[in-house]
Amino acid sequence: MEDIAKKAFARLFGHAPENVYSAPGRVNLIGEHTDYNDGFVLPTAIDFRTWVAACKRDDRIITAVALDEEDENGIPTVATFAIDDDLKKMDPPWSDYLLGVVNELKKEGYKLSGANLVIKSNVPRGAGLSSSAALENALVLALTDVSGEHLSGVKAALIGQAAENNFVGCNCGVMDQMVSALGKQDYALLLDCRSLEYKLVPMPESWSILIVNSNVKRGLVDSEYNVRRQQCEAAAKFFNVDALRDVSLAQLEKNKEALDPVVYRRALHIVTENQRTLNACTALEQGDLATLSRLMEDSHKSMKNDFEITVPAIDGLVKIIKDVIGTEGGVRMTGGGFGGCVVALIPKELEAEAIRRVEEEYPKISDGLAPSIFVCRASDGAFLRGK
Ligand code: ADP
Ligand code: MG
Repeated sequence: MEDIAKKAFARLFGHAPENVYSAPGRVNLIGEHTDYNDGFVLPTAIDFRTWVAACKRDDRIITAVALDEEDENGIPTVATFAIDDDLKKMDPPWSDYLLGVVNELKKEGYKLSGANLVIKSNVPRGAGLSSSAALENALVLALTDVSGEHLSGVKAALIGQAAENNFVGCNCGVMDQMVSALGKQDYALLLDCRSLEYKLVPMPESWSILIVNSNVKRGLVDSEYNVRRQQCEAAAKFFNVDALRDVSLAQLEKNKEALDPVVYRRALHIVTENQRTLNACTALEQGDLATLSRLMEDSHKSMKNDFEITVPAIDGLVKIIKDVIGTEGGVRMTGGGFGGCVVALIPKELEAEAIRRVEEEYPKISDGLAPSIFVCRASDGAFLRGK
């Protein structure tokens, strides 16, 4: 992939790029919807990446070519603009991410040079593996390095998140950008979404990360997401705290009768999920797959019954994998919900059988939908590898 970006750069601009930068996609192992409740998440960067081949220009123009985003004639699309212009949305649509990142870097006072960029990725787009964070981090790294500026992985993550919040119009937390920037090969990353403190936690090499995209068409995601956020805010308000992070299970149970029953169940998911995420971190440190198995099972049940963000095809997919791995591995839905992906941590020797069963059985429970299956390894973040 890196080579494809380099060769395309040379073909398009007539000389080799100065450097190629890259950032990975991610999968969240546990800690769902806890990010906007100031809680904990435990994602890992994956070995699917976005590469940006780059070279500085002498003027103040940025020209970027996206090899993966072709027009109707099969020609890669191009975004070109002057850094100092008042940046507004333009075609092609993916340029939102580039313009958003440039806008935020400008706001923060970074001195930017003009640049030619070629983008190439193998992160599936729109599949819940955060191709957007991979793109943002690779662009931040490329644009700042070409300009002689250096920033930390945390700063880069905040720039990417701000680009997505302010320019793209997606109200996401900072988990995706953080792990894509700061993840490490064969480690997961425990992130405190309030303080942004993080800790790398080793993952045994004998385990596989299996990700299956259900390919369910996701309809209500945005509106349901907003409703969940409001319900969590209502619960935090009831307890007079900034976020559900500050509510204990004992406190929640004591006030069960006084709370709206739906708000209670939403809060129950968040409060228990935060604890599960911390417990999962400990289990991972100890290489204790049996405990992780139970925690991931409980997490899925909590998303299904209390937070109500799963759909039958996803529940069925989890069951198919669970039938293969039993207590020897963990499986749960990952991501915002209402479709999307399932993640499993499994011993390598069960990988082939799990895949076989998913391919055979999933179409039968999903009206013929074919699953997309990815076997991953925890991978280096953009700012760990540097270039
Ligand atoms: P996800 O982050 O889950 O993959 P998003 O909808 O958040 O899904 O982001 C996908 C969008 O990000 C794409 O529609 C595209 O605009 C942009 N994008 C991601 N990867 C690339 C790429 N390699 N080239 C151009 N645009 C990309
Ligand atoms: Mg995204």
